[in-house]
Amino acid sequence: MGTGQNCPMPDATPARKPLSAPQKALHKLGLVRDIDLALHLPLRYEDETRIVSLRGARDGQLAQIEGTVTNSEISFRPRRQLLVTLDDGTDTCTLRFFTFYPAHQKTLAVGARVRARGELRGGFAGWSMVHPAFQLAGGELPDALTPVYPTSAQLPQAYLRKAVASGLRRADLSETLPPALLGGLQAVVRGTWTLRDALQYLHHPGPDVSLDALEDRSHPAWQRLKAEELLAQQLSQFTAKQERAALRAPALRAAPGGLHEQLLGALPFALTAAQRRVGEEIARDLTRQVPMHRLLQGDVGSGKTVVAALAAAIAIDAGWQCALMAPTEILAEQHFAKLIGWLEPLLAPLGKRVAWLTGSQKKKQRGEMLALIASGEAALVVGTHAVIQDQVVFKHLALAIIDEQHRFGVAQRLALRSKVGVAADGTEQEPHLLMMTATPIPRTLAMSYYADLDVSTIDELPPGRTPIVTKVVADSRRAEVIERIRSQLAQGRQVYWVCPLIEESEAIDLSNATATHAELAQALPGVLVGLLHSRMPVAEKKAVMSLFSGGQMGVLVSTTVIEVGVDVPNASLMVIEHAERFGLSQLHQLRGRVGRGAAASACVLMYTPPDGGRLGETARERLKAMADTSDGFEIARRDLEIRGPGEFLGARQSGAPLLRFADLATDGHLLDWAREAAPVMLAQYPAAAEKHIARWLGGKAEYLKA
Ligand code: ADP
Ligand code: MG
Repeated sequence: MGTGQNCPMPDATPARKPLSAPQKALHKLGLVRDIDLALHLPLRYEDETRIVSLRGARDGQLAQIEGTVTNSEISFRPRRQLLVTLDDGTDTCTLRFFTFYPAHQKTLAVGARVRARGELRGGFAGWSMVHPAFQLAGGELPDALTPVYPTSAQLPQAYLRKAVASGLRRADLSETLPPALLGGLQAVVRGTWTLRDALQYLHHPGPDVSLDALEDRSHPAWQRLKAEELLAQQLSQFTAKQERAALRAPALRAAPGGLHEQLLGALPFALTAAQRRVGEEIARDLTRQVPMHRLLQGDVGSGKTVVAALAAAIAIDAGWQCALMAPTEILAEQHFAKLIGWLEPLLAPLGKRVAWLTGSQKKKQRGEMLALIASGEAALVVGTHAVIQDQVVFKHLALAIIDEQHRFGVAQRLALRSKVGVAADGTEQEPHLLMMTATPIPRTLAMSYYADLDVSTIDELPPGRTPIVTKVVADSRRAEVIERIRSQLAQGRQVYWVCPLIEESEAIDLSNATATHAELAQALPGVLVGLLHSRMPVAEKKAVMSLFSGGQMGVLVSTTVIEVGVDVPNASLMVIEHAERFGLSQLHQLRGRVGRGAAASACVLMYTPPDGGRLGETARERLKAMADTSDGFEIARRDLEIRGPGEFLGARQSGAPLLRFADLATDGHLLDWAREAAPVMLAQYPAAAEKHIARWLGGKAEYLKA
């Protein structure tokens, strides 16, 4: 960000003595401030408020029983265990412990009066409970359900409960909503719950609540909480938007007969209507003095790169620099080759060049590139993460483009934006930002959730593409698949084979890929079969990739993901092994590597059922969905249904889910309210808005703006 401030929240626990192990564990869960603890809500509840009589109990019921121990013995069959018989006056129940200590036996001695909590199992031999929680009877029964919190191994539930209870007591939960907005809120959440009431209730609900309403989060207390969360998110989006509106970016206009027009004329194809439309949207943004913040989404193969190049041409023509960042070196190199092909002939007469930056670059070459960038001679800089390193100083950057933006972390996007340009009069200028993605966000979600993002969508593929036929086959039909490869090769086509993705183990990935590579090489004599995996040195990767894109290599076996975005139009068959292990959007991306030329293309999703069994129902349905549709938006929508929006909205990128409580699939009415309330609150009650953001987002507010 141009303003660059990163307002961390004051820490509620001033640094005194070193943190204890459970305190450290709390911090690790992000539970630092009192309010963080107060907002750490139970996963579920245990009912210790009543005693269930064994006579009236149900099989499988989670129950608390109370009775006298009538027998306690250690049995060795079928394995060592402590068996304790509890008699509650209506029936008896056997408590079974497979691990136990002398202290257990002491508490559970014959004659003791004991409360036990657990799942009751009925059966031939009478009631039993395995590893129940227990304590000596006596003392009042609690009058609220006992919360069970999400925690970690280092953090005992009892410690966490106490910490949350005291956080809840101490946290400032005063109302942030001005009376003018409160009425509207109460109407959408259907109740007059304050934040304090809602939290108090959700941490310690009374014994007669509907656990269903708590579980599906439809209870007004939940609704209030979710509305608050969404309000915080919208406030931060609108704030970011306002802050950006105050920043200055160079106003860039495509000149008649200029580079933009020349590039259009030089292209070997005509733009699609969708490309023209989004191109105009971007061009219009560039004419403004406010930095652009636009997401360009379009299905794989829809032709985003040329749209980016046209935007770059406008910036360059106006005398500024443009940077394009791609997530991998191979992808960056492809862009580089393509953009050089398109732009360099037009740049040369102007004495301008395209520069190239990657991590694997030789020091000398890198030095040369840095000099070109600093002097401004490099009108366009293409590269990987290397582009955002500190040593890279632009003379006058006006446009930053991020390809496959979902593959970048938030911090990296912020870093690129922080590369400022300097105008002729010496003032600092923010670059315009264009992000591109082939993993589309469903339209309504994008429009309503990201108040701070403009979205352009390419909803049309270039003409002349034949649709990709997708087949789902069992691994047992491998020989047929190889036959199919042979026939594609015979027609002069090329083939990708992607090997399973096992996140935990790169080593296993590798051995699978190596074995498949050997298998295919043997099955296809006379064909060059290549292997590409993530551990290979970059130079080797490049060599393999260039053999494949040059057409000499018939088959490319690759681990995990073939670098997103690679473009080899002659490839007509994509085989994905263990397709059941990939996410839908990932499969869609991979499939999009073929069908880029005129040849009929196919994608084979090969699955391996678990040992001897059948593939599970969900896995089957997911693969079927892939075969049914080739529309990236439809696939994103189904993916959303399966994974939920939390993950969708980049939870993994920022390290913390952006929405903890609200669910955009069910809480549209709350989002609508928040979207209307946020600008009003910012304009009329700025202090309350700031307090609300700090309460909910703490130090994460900056991240949400990226
Ligand atoms: P993506 O949107 O997935 O990044 P690319 O920009 O790589 O797609 O474009 C895919 C292919 O389509 C490239 O070979 C590109 O040159 C070509 N292409 C782009 N636009 C058109 C068009 N209007 N007509 C024909 N081919 C096009
Ligand atoms: Mg691309």
